[in-house]
Amino acid sequence: MSKPKVFVTRPILAAGLDMVRDFCEADIWPGELPPSREVLLERVKGVEGILSLLTSKIDNEVMAAAGTNLKVISNYAVGYDNIDIPAATRRGVPVGNTPGVLTDTTADFAFALLMAAARRVVEADIYTRAGKWQTWGPSLLLGQDITGATLGIIGFGRIGKGMAKRAQGFDMQILYYSCDCKPDPYAAEIGARCVDLTMLLERSDFVSVHVPLNDQTHHLINKETLRMMKPTAVLINTARGPVVDTEALYEALRDQVIGYAALDVTDPEPILADHPLLKLDNVIIAPHIASASYATRGKMATMAAENLIAGLKGEHLPNCVNPQVYETE
Ligand code: NAD
Repeated sequence: MSKPKVFVTRPILAAGLDMVRDFCEADIWPGELPPSREVLLERVKGVEGILSLLTSKIDNEVMAAAGTNLKVISNYAVGYDNIDIPAATRRGVPVGNTPGVLTDTTADFAFALLMAAARRVVEADIYTRAGKWQTWGPSLLLGQDITGATLGIIGFGRIGKGMAKRAQGFDMQILYYSCDCKPDPYAAEIGARCVDLTMLLERSDFVSVHVPLNDQTHHLINKETLRMMKPTAVLINTARGPVVDTEALYEALRDQVIGYAALDVTDPEPILADHPLLKLDNVIIAPHIASASYATRGKMATMAAENLIAGLKGEHLPNCVNPQVYETE
C-alpha cells in the first residue's frame, strides 16, 4: 500500500522525523531557513498532511494549494498563531500542537531572562570581555533584587504557572492576570493574587508575558500599558513578539519609562542587528530559544509526529486545537 504524502516545512529532531519517514512518503524541506512562500505553495500540492514549524504561515491559500486530500496539519509548537485555525476548521482539517512538554523548559528560560535582566548578566559579560574590569566597585553594574520582589504574570496558563512556581523559590509576591481569572487552586496554594491588568502593571517589579498571540493579545503591551509600569520594571516576553508593540517598547526603554526588557520573541522576527532596540544597553534579546533543550525539542518532535500520523489514519489527534472538526462525526 502506498504511504500518505506529507510535507514537513523544516527538519525536526530525529525522534519525530524517523516516525514520519516510517509512516509517510515525506517531502522534508532541508533548508536552514524556511521555504519561501512560492516553494511552500508548490510543495504542499496534493499532500495529505503538513508538519509545520512556526516559521511557516499556513493560511487558507496554503490549505487550498494542498487541496481536498489534506487531512491534518501538525504544528511543531504549542502556539499556533501561524495557522489560520478558522480556515482549517471550515475545511474539516484538524490542527495539532505540542502543549505541556515544553512548559518547564520555557518557564526555566523565562526565569533565566528575568534573572539575567535583573542582575545585568549580559552587560557584565560584555563589560568584562571589553577589558573594562579594573577593580571591584561599590556602584558597578547595580541591578534589581529578585528575592521578595513582585512578579506580575500575564497569562496564568501552563507556562505562566511554571513561572510562578519558580518565583516561589525566591519568595516573590505573585500577581497574575488572565482572561479566565476564575478561582484557581494552584494560585490559592501559592498565594498568587488575580488582579486586573492595570494593577498588575502598576505594582509589579517584573512583568512576564505568557498569553497566546491572537486579536485580543496583539499589542497588549503598548505605549499606554508601558506607562503604567514602574520606571525600574523589567518586562520579560517569551510568548510571541507581536504581543508587545516593538516601537513603543523601544521608546519606553530609551526614555527609561521602564527599566529593562528581556525578550525571547520579537516583532519582527528575526530582529536584525541594525534594529534600534539592539543599540540599547537595557535590553536582552534571545533568538526564540525558550523551548530549546535537547530533551524538550525531542519530545515536541515525537508529539508532532504522533499528531500527524493520527490525522493521516483518520484518528482523533492526541492534541487538537480545533476539536470542533470532530463534532459532525
Ligand atoms: P496556555 O494556553 O496554557 O496559557 C495561556 C494563558 O493565557 C491561559 O491562562 C489563558 O487564559 C490566558 N489568556 C489567553 N488570552 C488572554 C487574554 N486576552 N488576556 C489575558 N490572558 C489570556 O498556554 P502555554 O502553554 O502556557 O503557552 C503560552 C504561550 O507561550 C503559547 O501560546 C506560545 O505562543 C508561547 N510559547 C513560546 C515559547 C517560546 O519558545 N518562546 C515556547 C512555548 C510557548
